[in-house]
Amino acid sequence: MIITPLASGSSGNCYRIDCAGRTLLLECGLRFPEIQRGLDFQVSKLDACLISHEHADHSKAVKKLMKAGVDCFMSEDTQCALGLEDWHRARVLVPQVQHDEANLLGLGWGVMPFETQHDAAEPLGFLIARAGRKLLYATDSFYIKYRFAGLTHIMLECNYAEDLLAANVRAGEVDRSLQKRIRGSHMSLETAKEMLRTNNLSQVQEIWLLHLSDANSDAERFKREIQEVTGKVVRVA
Ligand SMILES: [Zn+2]
Ligand SMILES: [Zn+2]
Repeated sequence: MIITPLASGSSGNCYRIDCAGRTLLLECGLRFPEIQRGLDFQVSKLDACLISHEHADHSKAVKKLMKAGVDCFMSEDTQCALGLEDWHRARVLVPQVQHDEANLLGLGWGVMPFETQHDAAEPLGFLIARAGRKLLYATDSFYIKYRFAGLTHIMLECNYAEDLLAANVRAGEVDRSLQKRIRGSHMSLETAKEMLRTNNLSQVQEIWLLHLSDANSDAERFKREIQEVTGKVVRVA
């Protein structure tokens, strides 16, 4: 499984997943031409796009992607929030509570959507299985209430560190209401560590840290601290 971030963060999110000869897109929060470029101008070869929630940094190109013939999967409330009820390529995923990728997209991709905790209509994370690999994708969620077995790849939000956010509040760079919003909608370094500590990582090959804040994060430090906690290869998107 090859994970290629085309963009990550509050100005855009889009990840290309190549596995056993097929390609899936996670999020489409970029301008369509940038997505075309990231897919080597072979958008028609995409099996599907999965969208976690309606915020523009995750969904910007959804209509153009569907017009190009790509099925886009999302929760029902995300579909409504984006006004896509009449689009036949907007496909609904229902969050599953069992920890098994029960909902098959076809084409050999197993996808199990699960609830995340974010200030959006019905945000989802995804457990994605193909050809013996199992990827956990979870972003824009201040907490993940599930634990997962048999993961080989992890893509997890690591938006901010509590101390960096607090320092920016003290410096007047971030006001208290924004601090509260961030803490109630995005994952901290501390929560990401706890999440990784409490999952079985024995088969994990690599961990990607996603959606780092411009002001309240430190890529080198986050990578180092997550490496220390997990002993795994850590990459920052
Ligand atoms: Zn976002
Ligand atoms: Zn969001």
